[in-house]
Parts: sequence; C-alpha cells; structure tokens
Amino acid sequence: MGQSYDAIIIGAGIIGASIAFELSKKNYRTLNIDKLNAAGAGSTINTCAIIRTHYSTLEGTAMAYESCLHWKKWPEYLEVEDERGYAVFKETGMLILMHEDRDMSRHLEYHRQLGIAFEEWDLETLLEKEPYLDATGYYPPRRPGDEHFGESSGKKLTGAIFIPESGYINDPQLSVHNVQRAAEAKGAKFRFKEEVTDIRQQDGRVLGITLQGGEEIDAPVVVNAAGPHSFVINKMAKVDKSMKVGTRALRHEVHYVPAPKDFEIEKHGHVTSDNDIGAYCRPESGDVLLLGSQDPDCDPQEWVDDPDNFDREVSDQQWQAQVYRQAQRIPTLPIPGQAKGIVDLYDVSDDWIPIYDKSDLGGFYMAVGTSGNQYKNGPTAGFLMAELIDACEKGRDHDRDPVVIRWPITGIELNTRFFSRNREIHKNSSFSVLG
Ligand SMILES: Cc1cc2nc3c(=O)[nH]c(=O)nc-3n(C[C@H](O)[C@H](O)[C@H](O)COP(=O)(O)OP(=O)(O)OC[C@H]3O[C@@H](n4cnc5c(N)ncnc54)[C@H](O)[C@@H]3O)c2cc1C
Repeated sequence: MGQSYDAIIIGAGIIGASIAFELSKKNYRTLNIDKLNAAGAGSTINTCAIIRTHYSTLEGTAMAYESCLHWKKWPEYLEVEDERGYAVFKETGMLILMHEDRDMSRHLEYHRQLGIAFEEWDLETLLEKEPYLDATGYYPPRRPGDEHFGESSGKKLTGAIFIPESGYINDPQLSVHNVQRAAEAKGAKFRFKEEVTDIRQQDGRVLGITLQGGEEIDAPVVVNAAGPHSFVINKMAKVDKSMKVGTRALRHEVHYVPAPKDFEIEKHGHVTSDNDIGAYCRPESGDVLLLGSQDPDCDPQEWVDDPDNFDREVSDQQWQAQVYRQAQRIPTLPIPGQAKGIVDLYDVSDDWIPIYDKSDLGGFYMAVGTSGNQYKNGPTAGFLMAELIDACEKGRDHDRDPVVIRWPITGIELNTRFFSRNREIHKNSSFSVLG
C-alpha cells in the first residue's frame, strides 16, 4: 500500500526543507519531492548565503533579524545531529559603504525600533579600520564599455554603517542537509530525482501530484517551493492567472577573485555593500573574495523563460564589469586572466518581496518569489508557512482575515498579508536584490 501524506512540498531547497521541518513539528506527515539528486542542489547551492538585516521594510527587517538569531544558534534550532556536521555562520558583520546619494535613514530607524545594533563610522574611521579601501566616489555605477567608466564623480565616500550581527553561511547546501535531517527526525520524508508533472485537483481543491512516469501521490495540501521554477508550478496548478503578483526567473552571475595580498580578508573582512559602484562582496574560504552585483540600472537584466535551459557559463562582459568595479574600491585587488564564477537564477516577484501565501485552489500554497534574498530567511519562511497552512486547513479565511504570527525569539508580530499574492505592489521595496 502506498504511503499517504498530510502535505506534499514541491522542492527541497532551503525553503521547502524548512517548511517540512516546521510542518513536521506540528505533526503533519510531509513529503518533499525534488527532481535533483539532493537537498539544496537547486539555486540554494549557488547562493552567496549572506545573512544581513538591512531591508527596505520594517517587516523584512524583523524577519531577517529573527532568522539571523536562528543561524546564530543553528544546532539548537535543528534539535538534531547531522552525520555530516553543521553549516557555520561566519559572523563577519555587514559594512554598508555610504555616499551622499545613499539614504539609509529608514533602514536605521527600523534597526532602532527592533533593537538591532549598528555603528555609524565617519570616513576617517572607515579608512582606519579598512585600510585596503579607496574612498573615491563613482556614483552612478557604469559598465567598463562606458566612456566615463573609472572617472570619479568628484565626491568621496562619506563613511559607513557597520551592523555586527551579519555575515554568511560557509556551506549553504550543507545547511539544507542539516534541515533535511532535522525534518526527518520529526518524521518527514524526502524523495529525490523525481519530477512533479501534474497537480491534480477536483471541485476547487487539490488532490495531490503526479510524477513523471505516472505515479500519483495524494495529499490534501501541496506547497509550491520550487524556487526559480515557481511560475511553472503555479501554471501547472492553474493558479497563476488569479494572482496580482507574479514571479519570473532572472539569471545572475557571481564571481571569484583572489583577495588582496595586503589584507587578511578571510580573517578580518566583512560582507560589504557598496552601491556607489553597484556591488557587494564577501570573504570566501581560501582567501578568495566573492563578488556580486546589486543589478545597477546600466546592467542588462536577463529574464529566463525556461529555468531548465539557460546559459550557465560566466560571461566575459559581466565578469569584467563586476571585477573592474570592485577594483575601483580595492586598488590592490588581483585581477586574474580568466573569468571564474557561478551562474544561477533568482525567482523574482514583481516587487522583489516574496509571496508566502495560499492560492485560489483549496489546499495549494506557495513560498515563492524569493528574489535573490531569502536564503537567510529559510527558517522563518518555514515557520510562517507552517502557521499559515495550519490556520487555513483549520478553516481560517486567510484572504479576508489574514493570519498574524508572532516570531518566537523576538516576539515581534507580523501580519502575513504583507506577503500576499494579491497585495498592492510594496512601494517601499528597493525593487532590487536588497529586498
Ligand atoms: C547567485 C545567487 C546568490 C544569492 N545570494 C543570496 C544571499 O547572499 N543571501 C540570501 O539570503 N539569498 C541569496 N540568494 C537567494 C537564495 O539563494 C534563494 O532565495 C533561495 O536559495 C531559494 O530557495 P528555494 O528553496 O526557494 O529554491 P531552490 O533552492 O531552487 O529549490 C527549489 C527546488 O525545487 C525543485 N523543483 C523545481 N521544479 C520541480 C518539479 N517540477 N518537481 C520536483 N522538483 C522541482 C528544484 O530542483 C529545486 O531543488 C541568492 C541566489 C542566487 C541565485
């Protein structure tokens, strides 16, 4: 006899695995199905795994801080041992470089309201603490092909904001394996190398899923946690037309360069956000610097219609743009002759804020639109979704009377309407990877 489940979760990335863990804590019998061969092998494997709290909304800041507190006590959060060991939170702090045109007053106000520590450094303090940086201003960011690339704006950085409780996770795929083991310890099941090809439904309710090959598995709850494939799964469930906010896949490149020889970046470096040059970077083990882009307006955006088929090769033009920009800030940055990096997809919502919600199909839920910035929020997205699913399955009309949750550590309340599929676009959003 086939096993039956209370909930099927499509995807076993950081989001799907965390939903399984939290639903299992509520005694739901869950099954995660992933077409890849292991947990966290989708876009999560290529995340920069930056843990930070500066978001452009109060709700986003509170969720990121709650998540950060989970990462700080990762083994305790998991309540289980993993034979492979634990992923580690490298708490390097977050350095936000400031210039005249960068307004962080709203972000800092949210940090004050939530009691998140930060320091404000003037330029002298910044250069004393980070002597490898050059403070020349370049805003707005340009591409190397632009005739004005490399020309100073005539201004200098004005200083920095330093947020100590930030950093990155050293091994994101291991972190998802950790969550898989935590969920399994509470009864969850995982199946890999299986692709969901249909979402069966009857009379406005979900019945279960069908796998490629024809196997049918029933459950009263099905959750879309398919990452950059989220729009494919929503279309499969025929719920995409009844949502005000949609999702699309966006190609994104991250590059590696050796760290400057004059500064022990792995030991003393921070995660750095620098929108004067449209870049972010963080230390990586082996004294390597990982470079990402904040997608400045001058960079082309590559939307991808088929998330199973996109160019996974680093492009010379984007590599040049990101590495040369970073070399403006770190003049001693070694520039290797060969481009090196990774390419993967963001699952971007219309306002770059996720959708954590039910759908118009009874029993079908979604945790999608993570917009290049929700790895850090895996633990809290799992908690939020479990609360929401449980409330709806017990009869709550979440669309009319939205579920309000209280974050377990900080005690802060969140009206989950904030993440509704039918919200008005959040005007406060940065409309970028910063969320
Ligand atoms: C280059 C890059 C850098 C990033 N940097 C950061 C960062 O620094 N900090 C941060 O917080 N976030 C970051 N992000 C975002 C973060 O990685 C994502 O928000 C998060 O990993 C998404 O997790 P997920 O579980 O939703 O998706 P995924 O990890 O992609 O998991 C979805 C899974 O669904 C499976 N699936 C899809 N369709 C099917 C199907 N039909 N049947 C079965 N299985 C299916 C896939 O195989 C996949 O494993 C970054 C993202 C990228 C791409």
